[in-house]
Amino acid sequence: MSSISTQTEEREPGLLHRSLIERPQKVVSGSGIYLTLADGSRILDGCCGAAVSVIGHGNKQVQDAIMQQYLNVEYVHTMAYTTSSAEELADALTELSRPFGLTKAYFVCSGSEAMDAAMKLARQYHFENGQPQRRNFVARRQAYHGNTIGAMSVSSNLPRKIPYDGALTLDNVSFVSPAYAYRGQRDSETEEQYAARLVQELDDEFQQLGPETVVAFVAETVGGATAACITPPKGYFEGVRKVCDRYGILLVLDEVMCGSGRTGTYFAFEREGDVRPDLVTLGKGLGGGYAPIAGVLISEKVVNVLKRGTASFVHGHTYQAHPACCAAGLAVQQVIKREDLVAKCLSKGAFLESRLRSTLGGAKHVGEIRGRGLFLGIEFVQDRASKQPFKPAVKFASRMQEAAHSRGLAVYPGSGTVDGVNGDHVILAPPLTISEEELEEVVRLLKMAYDAVEEALV
Ligand code: PLP
Repeated sequence: MSSISTQTEEREPGLLHRSLIERPQKVVSGSGIYLTLADGSRILDGCCGAAVSVIGHGNKQVQDAIMQQYLNVEYVHTMAYTTSSAEELADALTELSRPFGLTKAYFVCSGSEAMDAAMKLARQYHFENGQPQRRNFVARRQAYHGNTIGAMSVSSNLPRKIPYDGALTLDNVSFVSPAYAYRGQRDSETEEQYAARLVQELDDEFQQLGPETVVAFVAETVGGATAACITPPKGYFEGVRKVCDRYGILLVLDEVMCGSGRTGTYFAFEREGDVRPDLVTLGKGLGGGYAPIAGVLISEKVVNVLKRGTASFVHGHTYQAHPACCAAGLAVQQVIKREDLVAKCLSKGAFLESRLRSTLGGAKHVGEIRGRGLFLGIEFVQDRASKQPFKPAVKFASRMQEAAHSRGLAVYPGSGTVDGVNGDHVILAPPLTISEEELEEVVRLLKMAYDAVEEALV
């Protein structure tokens, strides 16, 4: 990912930024879909950072809820105490997830921690279920699950992994193909046949490892940061669920980026047929950027085994279920519900997708426009017919980010390496509160940015 080079102040900053060379832009305020920079210019937040600010910036109800929690009590330790904010947030989420068998919620401060917690819950489930030999995890190439040791180990975001791979990664993780139709589906195959082939590959991997040694299969329901909004082929997750069930392997779905309503259903897996995951992680949109909060939703099946065993989750964070973070998360969920943002996301997403297709769909370097709801990705290629990606040195996605930014639009760039193929992309994930007129503006600015990048290539 690139950052946007900016002010060249003389003084070396004390803060370790992502880049040791370039400094990010200083933001002084945010309101609705706009951020205001220190120089007074406004940026239309077309990506909510990384699909975070689900209800936009500066929401008064959320600010007030956080302040009220601080006035009541800022912190309690979860070993002995709880708060209404934490209990009510868990109740609000499990009200949505109970129909899918997920009956308890566990809160931490980041998506990576949520993924580590989910991996530990999965392992503890088997351990307490009399199957301590289960130690292997299977994940997918072109996945991103976070930066902590566990989450990084099941990820394949190479730039974030290479320096640590083999030294700070688990050795009990193997990878199968992503569900990436644009590059993976054969011309001779239907969508269903492609899904069946991927499921067979997973089954083969389980067989090869010895299915009785596998803890869980871990996947993003809709691929995000390294994949740019890849939706699975029809029947894929139903097939995955069946294969996991056949061997008693748990299914962990990572909805840190694609959950919380972003794809037009509260959980992205709701569009995948009759799929009941064992563990689901949420993050980003859960707190909407108002506070660092992420969570794991846990199935009754897992809860029951733990109940019969140690009756505890052997995993405690000082700041788990932090009162102010839970207050923020609860208020964000209330805004989503009251303003019917999940349903609106579906119709606005369809509008944005159709405007993107009509404006950029035929462009020379646009390989694919894809996604669901207000979670849309554009993959850029050197050559449309052969799908040949740009050489990494071209930095097409970074150029797009910079060109969009200089025109007043924030987009989320990335490149995902799959089997040696490096594809550039940008993600559009605006606040679910955005209007159609504002979406028109997103498309207009993005088209201007694209034209400038394309022109500069020749
Ligand atoms: N899972 C997915 C799908 C993500 O996109 C991310 C972050 O980008 C994470 C997990 C990690 O979340 P965090 O950055 O909050 O640790």
